Amino acid sequence: MACISMGSIPYFDGHCDTVSACTHDGRSLRENGGQLDLRRLSRFQKAAQIFALFANAEKFPAGTLWNECQKQHEVFLRQMAENADLAVFCRTGADVAAAHKAGRVAALLSVEGAELLDCDPEKLETAAGWGVRLVNVTWNHVNALSGTNVEQPDRGLTDRGRAFVQAAYGLGILPDASHLSDPGFWDMAEMNLGPVVATHSNARAVCGHSRNLTDDMFKAIRDSGGVAGLNMYEDFIGGAHTLDDAVRHVDHFMELDGAKALALGGDWDGCELAFGWTGVQDLPALWDALAERGYDRACLEDIFFNNWLRVLG
Ligand SMILES: [Zn+2]
Repeated sequence: MACISMGSIPYFDGHCDTVSACTHDGRSLRENGGQLDLRRLSRFQKAAQIFALFANAEKFPAGTLWNECQKQHEVFLRQMAENADLAVFCRTGADVAAAHKAGRVAALLSVEGAELLDCDPEKLETAAGWGVRLVNVTWNHVNALSGTNVEQPDRGLTDRGRAFVQAAYGLGILPDASHLSDPGFWDMAEMNLGPVVATHSNARAVCGHSRNLTDDMFKAIRDSGGVAGLNMYEDFIGGAHTLDDAVRHVDHFMELDGAKALALGGDWDGCELAFGWTGVQDLPALWDALAERGYDRACLEDIFFNNWLRVLG
């Protein structure tokens, strides 16, 4: 098999939990033994990463999540300042282009789970001020906005959930459907307020996990101008966790006319990676597998970079 180098492929990924890991084990964003760091990202031809602020509500005393969210934001800002030679914080597509022109990794922000903002529109506004571009309506645990794929999965958006989604779109923050319950997904999509995104979710027809997207969900994402990010978590890839299994997800999304709606959402530092991978440096193997399958460079550049850039404008 051909072996393309990191330096020959672009990279724009919608989800990693590395900042949460930095906050809790003191690792550096610059270089660490985890699945992703700035040093490795800088080896791509050009790289952009959406970094999630994330905390599992069950592991924090009630009423402390907003403090935790602010703490992780401070850690992120400090890491950006300490690594200004490698990376720059970006809010927009224009920022990303400028970062790449300067030879830097583009770093963007998301919040995984509106409970980190106390499900509060005012704190959402604060996050918008920080430059946060995406907020997951829920993580795994049910919150005041909606049921999730694992807790109260039959419950859709509450009235507060609808108001929060509307406020997010109004602030230029995309509500993220990954982790939402199925009814929550449809409640959000049917509000029809902007691109629907699922930063780190695969095809349920290929791997029947409730964290993955049904065909109709993916079509709704596609028709809204949004994207779904391909997740490298072995449980969401399914099968024997091989690259052939990942190719099956891509093939399936392409059969649904998804060339402009599929992107990357690796879930780095938030999962057990499939394919025997240990980190983001292994991604060229997926490019090779897809190229060997017959996908041309323009199509792969859309999946690996352009589709995220378009959505974040
Ligand atoms: Zn997640």
